[in-house]
Amino acid sequence: MKNILPLFVFIDACGWEIIRNDPFANRIAPHRKRLKSVFGYSSACVPSILSGGWPDEHRNWCYFVYDPGKSPFQSLRPLRWLPQAVTGRRIFRRWLSRFVRVQLKFRGYFDLYNIPFKHISLFDFTEKKSPLKPGGMNRGPNIFDFLELRAIPYHVSNPAKSEPENLRAVTADIRSERIDFAFVYLPELDGLLHRVGNQSPDVPSKLRQYEQWIEQLTAAAREHYKEVRLYVFSDHGMANCDELLDLKSRIEELDAQMGRDYAVVYDSTMARFWFFNDHAREEIVESLRGVSQGRILPDAELKQLRAYFPDRYFGELIFLVKEGVLIVPSHMGERPIRAMHGYHPADQQSYAALLTNQPDIPCDIEAIPDIFRLMTRDAELARERNRRPWADSDCLDFDAENPAGAIGEGPKSELKPEPS
Ligand SMILES: [Zn+2]
Repeated sequence: MKNILPLFVFIDACGWEIIRNDPFANRIAPHRKRLKSVFGYSSACVPSILSGGWPDEHRNWCYFVYDPGKSPFQSLRPLRWLPQAVTGRRIFRRWLSRFVRVQLKFRGYFDLYNIPFKHISLFDFTEKKSPLKPGGMNRGPNIFDFLELRAIPYHVSNPAKSEPENLRAVTADIRSERIDFAFVYLPELDGLLHRVGNQSPDVPSKLRQYEQWIEQLTAAAREHYKEVRLYVFSDHGMANCDELLDLKSRIEELDAQMGRDYAVVYDSTMARFWFFNDHAREEIVESLRGVSQGRILPDAELKQLRAYFPDRYFGELIFLVKEGVLIVPSHMGERPIRAMHGYHPADQQSYAALLTNQPDIPCDIEAIPDIFRLMTRDAELARERNRRPWADSDCLDFDAENPAGAIGEGPKSELKPEPS
């Protein structure tokens, strides 16, 4: 029996508004807090949680950027001659994405989405490594670097496996008492919400299933750890899309031509532009100012959102739509979906949630990157408390702060290993 297990359960898209009026996890994690999300998609939110940094620090923001010199997709250009009936199909794109991911040795999530093959060699993909692995950030360390550096044994879900497979794997690691930290990733609610929207009865059903799984997991952990510090949290919420915006057609009607005068990535809620001449910039800015469903984000606001990049790596101009508007067709999808995230973090459905069995959520835990501090704090605590005195020569080392070697006094006594 070990002393402490920090158990972090990440439920993708389980936003504050999704659980606000639902008794989700009340029995096992009764203390709740609304958390501010990070501007961007999961490509920005997940790395922020895992590193404690903001996009302007870790530079994991949006997946595709204009960077023809570094584009790894040159070999896909001939596919532009294939009929749209083939290349526009999700099943073809998914198959090709898997093939490309292996060929290009990308380690993280990869999807070609709906980027047209005609323009694909203009773009680079920014998440070549997996943020769920040590060394997985574009810049700086993440929680797994932290754990490895301190030799804290941990479990992390494998995103290539299903939710039940990952739950079986973490349960086995808990039962073996091999680990001092667990990070479980449950992605299915996100996909469900995209398909059915945030008002569907399928959503509470999925929450009940998660509740049951987390209860079982916590019960298994309690058999092997005296204290289980459970944190269930999310990265963002999900807004229903009730209005479609064909921004692409509107921009393509202008004189400026994609690839010659400008480049653009149409995300589902944002359009990010790079300009090659002043005429294109003026024409596009004027056209965007006439689109009532969204607005150009000023630099000052991007700075405030921690998504301002002085080198304009992710776009010279960021156009963001209002909550509930979906850009379609976009480079993310040809057809509409029921719900989306990636709106302004101050929009109602954007907020994330933290639920825990710890009664004292520190007041400086306000936004999703702050979860990192909970993880490092609890991982350190588990390392100290799970240490077996007879197996660890550190206990005999000279302690500069405690030269007399006194134990059992002051705050240090809290960290003293208990007999197991
Ligand atoms: Zn999503």
